[in-house]
Amino acid sequence: KSVVHRICAGQVILDLSAAVKELVENSLDAGATTIEIALKDYGKEWFQVIDNGCGISPNNFKVLALKHHTSKLAGFPDLQSLTTFGFRGEALSSLCALGNLTVETRTKYEQVATHLTFDHSGVLVTEKKTARQVGTTVTVKNLFVNLPVRCKEFSRNIRKEYGKLVSLLNAYALIAKGVRLVCTNAIGRNAKSVVLKTQGSGSLKDNIVTLFGMSTFSCLEPVSISVSDSCKVDGFLSKSGQGSGRNMGDRQFFFVNGRPVDMPKITKLVNELYRGANSQQHPIAILNFTVPTRACDVNVTPDKRKVFFSDESSILVALREGLQQIYSTSNA
Ligand code: ADP
Ligand code: MG
Repeated sequence: KSVVHRICAGQVILDLSAAVKELVENSLDAGATTIEIALKDYGKEWFQVIDNGCGISPNNFKVLALKHHTSKLAGFPDLQSLTTFGFRGEALSSLCALGNLTVETRTKYEQVATHLTFDHSGVLVTEKKTARQVGTTVTVKNLFVNLPVRCKEFSRNIRKEYGKLVSLLNAYALIAKGVRLVCTNAIGRNAKSVVLKTQGSGSLKDNIVTLFGMSTFSCLEPVSISVSDSCKVDGFLSKSGQGSGRNMGDRQFFFVNGRPVDMPKITKLVNELYRGANSQQHPIAILNFTVPTRACDVNVTPDKRKVFFSDESSILVALREGLQQIYSTSNA
């Protein structure tokens, strides 16, 4: 049974960035306004997500890391109207199966925090009092220690995994309004260094300036395209002639209703249209699609990175028209 659990867990959490993504989303769901992601040796040794969210109630300690435990479904009339990131109750249980999980947490109703450790099947094994502000710290040591092949791959590809993680954290840092996000990494015996940091500002513009600098921001122009009555696209895109010859994959971010997602078709379209107008360049693109929750499904893959629109073709058509218009006017 535990082997099956381990294999299933390995399908929910495919890599380092998927693991950290789940923890960051839990912090966002908990209403955190400060989230620190601390890595040791790029996350290979351990990683930690520290938040000032609502904390976890002692009633939930025992069940916290058991499969399908979630506190988020009750109160939702149906899945379609779900606005929290998580609801499956799979992340903590999967992380337990794949590494060593500890949680430190305190709600505003508690005077002290509690430090919890779990075994690989998600059973709570130790519980002791500790000092902490209201909020939660989740630590995962030795990710994939139980999957020897994946573990070896993980070590071998750690820099690549780390790059993917930083890109994902940039996505959250851009879109999360009013949330301070900090990521640090400590290599070997060195002190931790700051990888990225935002101020918790209220606007996408401020977040772009903080993360990428004013000079980058000044090469962008705002995008606002209405696809239909209920669907629109907002964000920023490189101005004509301001793109980069190098692969800007690390500066392209797509969101649906404020969630970072992968949109291969839309990415391709954006790049094609930009190249068409700018010969062989890649634009910086930071685009958020606002769509009614019932017109899209972000829950099709376990990591919720893929998104299905019920009417993708009309979105593509409207986006094409909107972008062409932007490029034709900015070229004129
Ligand atoms: P899900 O997010 O799908 O509910 P998870 O396995 O990610 O499932 O988390 C299980 C439960 O643990 C959540 O429903 C929530 O109640 C609690 N939880 C996890 N992380 C946090 C956090 N950072 N702050 C507060 N509660 C948390
Ligand atoms: Mg979750």
